[in-house]
Amino acid sequence: MANIAFIGLGNMGGPMASNLLKSGHQVAVFDLFPEAVAKLVSEGASTADKVSECVKDAEFIVSMLPAGKHVEGLYIGDDGLINYIKPGSLVIDSSTIDKGTVIKVSTELANKDINFVDAPVSGGVGGAQAGTLSFMVGGNVADFNLAKPILENMGKNIFHAGSHGAGQVAKVCNNMLLAVLMSGTAEALQLGMDNGLDAEVLSDIMLQSSGRNWTLEVYNPCPGVMENVPSSNDYNGGFMTNLMAKDLGLAMDTAVQSQSSTPMGALARNLFALHAGQGNGSKDFSSIIKMFKKT
Ligand code: NAD
Repeated sequence: MANIAFIGLGNMGGPMASNLLKSGHQVAVFDLFPEAVAKLVSEGASTADKVSECVKDAEFIVSMLPAGKHVEGLYIGDDGLINYIKPGSLVIDSSTIDKGTVIKVSTELANKDINFVDAPVSGGVGGAQAGTLSFMVGGNVADFNLAKPILENMGKNIFHAGSHGAGQVAKVCNNMLLAVLMSGTAEALQLGMDNGLDAEVLSDIMLQSSGRNWTLEVYNPCPGVMENVPSSNDYNGGFMTNLMAKDLGLAMDTAVQSQSSTPMGALARNLFALHAGQGNGSKDFSSIIKMFKKT
């Protein structure tokens, strides 16, 4: 069993760390929110007052933070973990961040003989809880092979996307498609409801027809159609609109760099940015359906 430090115990990181504990690893946890730390400690994790203390004995350091600036600050910022992690250890960053930050952080860590893979995830909070996430890993083959058995405790599909940053490119492509599917599904459901259809009936019809997609299968945006999804919990928990807006910004940056055309992604970015700006940033991204509702 491995000695693992886990940093960032939010909607995703909390259940992921919990699954590492259930697999029998020694896990030291850290988050800025004491409540998040206390929950994992009650499940058997250790912790310390400072994040630098949590990583000093770790062979693997897993991080699950909101955005690139948090990852950069944690590892290579003032008094960053680069000064505390043992040489030869492997950092697995599962946050969704920009490729540029991955290259910067991984290069600086490599100078201190600390290995790094980017390993963003797909599957949502449900996947994190069930241990069925998909991991998209960027890094060299040796580090991928080292990371894989650890990731298998938290996910069921572990892909090697390519070199450093490739995991992030795969992730933003996937999330751009998810945003397009969610806004399209919300629009279609609202059109049906505006014309007298019941959301559950229409969802059933589209699930068995050519409009079928992941949002209809497991993440319906209409309250009451499915249990245990954010739409049936006032859009709390799940994947925050702010984070989706961030991911769509990353997709647009990636498209600019490769001079790719992403008209659907651009529209989705604007829809989610508008929705976030109207006070829905901390609500789950499926709340985009409210934008289509006539008042
Ligand atoms: P979250 O906001 O719920 O959790 C982030 C956690 O990081 C918070 O608990 C915060 O306190 C902690 N944190 C921030 N800076 C820190 C620091 N310096 N040291 C320690 N802890 C720190 O976010 P989340 O939903 O868990 O998402 C995390 C990442 O996973 C994001 O990059 C997101 O885009 C990605 N993601 C989320 C989902 C989802 O469905 N929520 C799905 C796939 C990927």
